[in-house]
Amino acid sequence: MTNQFAMNGLSDQKPHFVLVPLMAQGHMIPMIDLALLLAKRGVLVSLITTPFNASRIQTTINHAKECCLPIQFVELPFPGAELGLPDGCENLDVVPTMDLMVNFFQAIALLQKPLELYLKEHVSYPNCIISDFCHPWTNKVASNLQVPRLIFFSICCFTLLCDHNISKYKVYDDITDENEPFIVPGLTEKIKVTKAQAPGFFSAPGWEEFAKELREAEMAADGIVVNSFDGLEALHIESYQNAMGKKVWTVGPLFFYHKDASYTATRGDKATIDANRCLGWLDSMKPKSVVYVSFGSLTHVKPTQLMEIGLGLEASNQPFVWVIKNIEKSQAVDEWLSEGFEERVSARGLLIKGWAPQVMILSHPAVGGFITHCGWNSTIEGITTGIPMVTWPQFGDQFLNERLVVDVLNSGVPIGVKEPGMFGDDNRVPFVGRDDVEKAVSMLMDEGKEGQARKERAKILGKKAVEAMKEGGSSHANMTHMIEYFSINVEKSMAQVAL
Ligand code: UDP
Repeated sequence: MTNQFAMNGLSDQKPHFVLVPLMAQGHMIPMIDLALLLAKRGVLVSLITTPFNASRIQTTINHAKECCLPIQFVELPFPGAELGLPDGCENLDVVPTMDLMVNFFQAIALLQKPLELYLKEHVSYPNCIISDFCHPWTNKVASNLQVPRLIFFSICCFTLLCDHNISKYKVYDDITDENEPFIVPGLTEKIKVTKAQAPGFFSAPGWEEFAKELREAEMAADGIVVNSFDGLEALHIESYQNAMGKKVWTVGPLFFYHKDASYTATRGDKATIDANRCLGWLDSMKPKSVVYVSFGSLTHVKPTQLMEIGLGLEASNQPFVWVIKNIEKSQAVDEWLSEGFEERVSARGLLIKGWAPQVMILSHPAVGGFITHCGWNSTIEGITTGIPMVTWPQFGDQFLNERLVVDVLNSGVPIGVKEPGMFGDDNRVPFVGRDDVEKAVSMLMDEGKEGQARKERAKILGKKAVEAMKEGGSSHANMTHMIEYFSINVEKSMAQVAL
């Protein structure tokens, strides 16, 4: 394989970080942002990806080239066929069935040897590897090459700490009913959840071995990188760092890279709406009047639920941008929408069917509220843009993220869902009626005392997020420290490998 850094004449004297994101939008997108930020600060970055995923982010690849950012996007062939995955099945959002999920993770682990080979042949030896927490196999790569490995989490420290404490205090040893609320131990706040809402990562049957590998790789890691910032959760960051006994670098909000970028509309994938049309529509709306509704990249919203959301938004009389995924799979929704819904709301409703330019929309001054599934990226994006949220968690870490927004930050209104669905199983997702949607929107946009106070708190958090990323801010300083720390250690790593 060729060394593109050498070909581009970029100095080998710069520190070299290897980034290995999980091939899932909520994991890849923030890590690409991390790559862009590191490269902007002079670090050589190799971002490991696969052909299908690289094609989705072609605009980012072109952008990095145009800006002469020292990033190389390393495309390793994806060994999916060896595990019976269909052609092009290289991202979590295109894995066709739940049964194939295990195969998907097994295929990813087969990248260990090709990655090692690539890094050994590379003349610019890495100073460190930053890899997603879902890639325990990268621990072997790091130890075989004798380079430090940092774990990357696109999860906040509050949620990581709750998960850690629930396990440390063996809370589930005494719980028989998974819907029985309990208080998360070891926190200063009273945070009430259920086992169903906070089951732990990869706790479903069949994932025991993988979960064990995750824990071992976590113990062995040399540090942790988190997409969060001090002004949001300083105490939780400190407690989590103490609990883990290793350095935690909070360097977010990572999407801040896109604040000035003209190609923001294509972050993560090509948007299915023309960016100028979308911006033109937002420009025509009053400041802070629009509600943005999106459930991220993985949540499947059932047709009946989609219809209730639509009717609730219509009844709210509030302008909205509504992102609907997988519509092509649901004739029922397509028919219902074409039965007049779109015409009825055309003066104040914009539907995006497919991938939306989320950060571009959230950053627009017309947007005043966000109905979110509480994926951590969406949550921190909403927080940074300084708007209140309606929290509508579905699975995974999302219920704990909701608790942070509603109970700790006081900047969100819960839609009221108590039981989680299960990733990939639409039938377990609790149903929310149109009246609840309408009520949540009116609370979100409320101009009364309570609503104003919530908006004010959200605005303050947004300002803190911006401050964190500026020169002199906490996340900016943490990134400087992380770069310096691993730049100094390079000679040691190389000497060890030479032995
Ligand atoms: N996203 C986007 N357009 C979409 C859907 C999602 O740009 O139509 C981005 C969103 O801004 C976020 C990421 O994809 O950065 C989704 O991550 P999150 O953690 O919010 O949710 P997940 O998709 O992992 O459930």
